[in-house]
Amino acid sequence: MSLATLDLNSDFLWLHPETVVKCTACGGSAGFQSAEVLLPVKRHEQNFRAAGLRRMQFSKVERHYHSSFRDHYLRFTKLGQMRPVGSNHHLGSQVLSASCLWGTSVCTVCHQHLKIKLNWPEDAYFQLSYASRRLWFYNRDHVVGMMRHLTNATCKPQRLPNGNCVADPWGYWFHSELATVFKTKKARKILPARLKRMLRL
Ligand SMILES: [Zn+2]
Repeated sequence: MSLATLDLNSDFLWLHPETVVKCTACGGSAGFQSAEVLLPVKRHEQNFRAAGLRRMQFSKVERHYHSSFRDHYLRFTKLGQMRPVGSNHHLGSQVLSASCLWGTSVCTVCHQHLKIKLNWPEDAYFQLSYASRRLWFYNRDHVVGMMRHLTNATCKPQRLPNGNCVADPWGYWFHSELATVFKTKKARKILPARLKRMLRL
């Protein structure tokens, strides 16, 4: 892949900054480095506003990758698209850095750097099937967080000596995002052992 068309409407996704994928070369665990895309704004329409979106026109997209990954090319060809929600609100040139599906997988096993377009959650390294559903995780810490929540019925927030709560990065995901089928009594009995095996503890 030397040149690709970037679609602002479908090539971005909410991803954890430390997302682990399966290496397409050896199947090992590989860190995913999301591409950064520079979008110089050519023109924007002041009068067009809806739900926080503003219609803008981009002149071109330039490469803006980490120096080790200079051979990536992304090009945005559809002018006049809506800006994706969550991109920053300043006008002018800007970098969309979070969660572009294009990027590089850096394998911890075979050490290859591969340019990929992420197919999420298909490509998640940490995943299992339970009750005919895919249960996927962004990374090892996410699996550990899931185990903690499954085995702790009350899930009281941890407190520091000064009384402040320790923020639980996976609490919101577990309580608000995760399908109920993975939180039933039965799941709490079966899943912790499977998650432990997944982490090879
Ligand atoms: Zn590999």
